[in-house]
Amino acid sequence: MERFIQVSLLSESKAWIQEGELQTNEMPRLVDILVADGSFLQYRINLERNKKEVTCSGNLEGTLSIACDRCGQPLKLDVNEEFTFKMVPETNLESQNGKEVLLEDEDLDIDFYQDDQIDWLGILEDQAILSLPIRNLCEEQGQSACEIPLNPQEIENLKTDNPFASLNYSGWKNN
Ligand SMILES: [Zn+2]
Repeated sequence: MERFIQVSLLSESKAWIQEGELQTNEMPRLVDILVADGSFLQYRINLERNKKEVTCSGNLEGTLSIACDRCGQPLKLDVNEEFTFKMVPETNLESQNGKEVLLEDEDLDIDFYQDDQIDWLGILEDQAILSLPIRNLCEEQGQSACEIPLNPQEIENLKTDNPFASLNYSGWKNN
């Protein structure tokens, strides 16, 4: 199946629908995050065209294997994501008042496509990445909490990443 859909060739009377299982070689950005085996994602995606606007909806269901941010152990993450958003050609923003385009339909998120093409596998991969937690820890995936001490570099990173780090040195002195 071709990963790019030509928008002008989509029927306006009938939705374009694909269902199947996402293969890891179709998700190059996600593969960098996954660990070990045991990841699978079933998908369904619908594209409905109305002139140059395309409503994209679908769902992803399955399991992703990703590493615990603290100890690195592979954890199974259940994915059950529904999505709906609208796609408009990117040139719309340049040729029209961008605000009008964005405010027409406040209920739906807007994304853009370029050169009359929609990368539907890219959309599915984006949605899968969006379903990942910001922080993935053993105890948040139903495991007992791991207690691997951070290495010195990680402790250093925590200090610089923490927006309140400077407080440690000013108003928050302990006795
Ligand atoms: Zn862990």
